[in-house]
Order: sequence, then structure tokens, then C-alpha cells
Amino acid sequence: MKIHEFQAKAILAKYGVPVPRGVVANTLPEAAEAAKTLFANGATGVVVKAQIHAGGRGKGGGVKVVRTQADAEAAAAKILGMQLITHQTGPQGQKVQRLLVEETASIDRELYLGIVLDRAVGKLVFMASKAGGMEIEEVAAKDPTAIVKEVIDPAVGLAAYQGRKLAFALGLKPTQINQAVAFFQSLYKAFVETDASLVEINPFITTTDDKLFALDAKMTFDDNALYRHADVRELRDLAEEDPLEVEASKYALNYIKLDGSIACMVNGAGLAMATMDIIQYAGGSPANFLDVGGGATQEQIEHAFEILLSDASVKAIFINIFGGILRVDRLAQGVVAAARKLSVTLPIVLRLEGTNVEEGRQILKESGLNFQVGSTMKEAADLVVAAAKVGA
Ligand code: GDP
Ligand code: MN
Repeated sequence: MKIHEFQAKAILAKYGVPVPRGVVANTLPEAAEAAKTLFANGATGVVVKAQIHAGGRGKGGGVKVVRTQADAEAAAAKILGMQLITHQTGPQGQKVQRLLVEETASIDRELYLGIVLDRAVGKLVFMASKAGGMEIEEVAAKDPTAIVKEVIDPAVGLAAYQGRKLAFALGLKPTQINQAVAFFQSLYKAFVETDASLVEINPFITTTDDKLFALDAKMTFDDNALYRHADVRELRDLAEEDPLEVEASKYALNYIKLDGSIACMVNGAGLAMATMDIIQYAGGSPANFLDVGGGATQEQIEHAFEILLSDASVKAIFINIFGGILRVDRLAQGVVAAARKLSVTLPIVLRLEGTNVEEGRQILKESGLNFQVGSTMKEAADLVVAAAKVGA
């Protein structure tokens, strides 16, 4: 689960990570009031920042640094409600529903910090780089040596010596080293105690008066641990998520929207991956990943169908089911009921195997609906790719 910058900063501040003073604003009067309060309390400038889940807001025009109240209000009016397009939002962009108004910092250097799980090592890795304010993926591709890493022993946590190593590698001044170590350790503590899956501070800045701040903050959380973090769970913002994925999560369906034209309905994540591969191999492209799970109910299958059909780019549907716990006849009943209820006109290709497969095929045949059944995965994939081309 992702959260907004202002929410991440609030969490980090609780753990003692220094963040600039700021106020979140949902309306223009609130933004004006926020700027006024900051100026009244000694700010020499404010920065107005779009709060959307995607990064790259600065380049997209979603971050404005201003010096006066009038300019702050003008920036807020421009950004609030805009359709902000960044490399992470896709071409349609994301509507800005709220702003973070913050006191500006007098930046000396822009650096980078991140914590992620390194799956190869099986441990958390603390990353730091002098190349802050840029996309870290680009830095990693061009010059991997520009990112220094410390692997963290989970029994010890981020040790002070590791913090110092990172701080020296960033070229921090002697007066900043101890501050930096405390900063890094607070960041690590926040990560572990909230069951985060990613923390990224880009930029992590030094100021002209030698202070350190998290100028931007990104946090994502392990969905499987949210049950024990009610406070974090509350921060979920459904408006920022793909509506079809939100719908799917209501019915415990594992659905990820993709950009192809062949919808897939599959049980089991491994079979779902294999199905996407074979669609590609047959010359098509999948419109989604969908795992209805081993024990899907008829109701879940109906909802899965509705979700697949509400994606306008879908030209054909591929149902690839191995009936283990989910019996094939029950799946077939679900498919027929859903196809009738939703008056599906798109071609549907099935490949079925497993428990009660003959009964399942019979149900499809007797339905009078236009299903094609492939006897192998490859044959079914060829059929569905051909059907999608006709429909396109
Ligand atoms: P992102 O583009 O979505 O990652 O948004 P950031 O919060 O990282 O802001 C983008 C850039 O705006 C930063 O790299 C800074 O260069 C600049 N910026 C953000 N806040 C301030 C500030 O308080 N003062 C100044 N001078 N620049 C800022
Ligand atoms: Mn950033």
C-alpha cells in the first residue's frame, strides 16, 4: 500500500526524522491559510506541493517554490485540481486533490536515501547516493557505483558504524555526521516498526546552515502486515488507486491491470503467470493478471467477469482453469451465469482441466452461449489471440 508524502512525513517525524514544517490543504482557502501561518512564523518562502502517489511531480509542474503570500496562492490555484502528468502516472495523469504547503529550506546539497528489501541477500539494504533529486533508477542504470549500500543484520539493526560509513560516503561535513547517523537510524526504525516495504528520501538535503532534512518522503507498506497497523491502514487513499484493482480487492481477487487486449481469468498465481507467457508466445498481449484463487466461489467468478469486462481495451477473454479445490463444473456454472447476466458479447475461450472437467464441458455446451474450448493451453492461446485480432 502506498501513502502520500505528507502522511509519510508525519510518520517519519514521529520517529525523529527531521522534516520541514508543513501543513496539508484540501482547498484553496486552506492553502492560503497554511502559507500565511508559515510566513507569520518566520518562513522566508514556501513550497506548494501536489499530493499524489506518483513521483516525478517536480518535473511535471506539481512543485512550486515561492517567496510571497500572493505567489503561494497563485501556485496553489494552479496545482490544486490539475491533472498532473508524470512518468509514473501514465499519459492520463492523476488529479491533484490536496496540497502540502511547506516552509522552504535553503538547500546546500540534494542527496538520496532509500531502504528496500534485497531479495537476493534476504536482508534490508540501506542505500545512499550523492545523486539526489534525480530518478534513482536512472542513476542505477548509468553508474551503479554512485549508490552505496549497507546490508542490515536484522538482529542488530542499522549499526552506528554503518551510519557513519554511509555519511562519509555521502561526503557530509564533520559537523553533520552525528546528525546523519541519528537520521539514518530513525529512518530504519520507522521502516521496521511500520512493516514498510520501501522508504525513499529523495532528496535528502543538507542546508546552508548545516542541517539535514527529508525534503521528500515516499513510503509503501507490506499489505500482508497491515492487519497489525490500524493507523497505517487508515491512510489508504482509494482515489489514488486503479478503480478496477480497488473493486477486485473487495472480492479478494488478485487483479493487476495491464495494457494488452486479452483478459485472463486463471486460478493460481503460477498458472496465471504461465497463461500470460503463453498469450505472448502466441502473439497476443494480456489485458490483466487475474488469480481468482484456489477456492473461488461462483460469486467471485461473476465479480471477476464484471471487472474484466469493464476494461474497454479487452477484445477477448481467456479462461484457463485447473479444477482442484475449485471444481470445473462449478466454474462452468459461474461462467455461464455471469455471461448471461452481463450479456457478454466478447469471444470467450476456455481451457479446462481437473476435477469434473467433463461435467464442466457439458454445462458450457448446453448453455447455448458462444464459447470456444481449446484442448491444450497452446491451442486455447492460439484461439484467443485469433479472436482478439478479429475483435480489434
Ligand atoms: P518529486 O518530483 O515528486 O520527487 O517531488 P520532490 O518533493 O522531490 O520535489 C522535487 C524538487 O523540488 C526537489 O528535488 C527540489 O529540487 C525541489 N524542492 C522541493 N522542496 C523544495 C524547497 O523547500 N526548497 C527548494 N529550493 N526546492 C525544493
Ligand atoms: Mn522526490
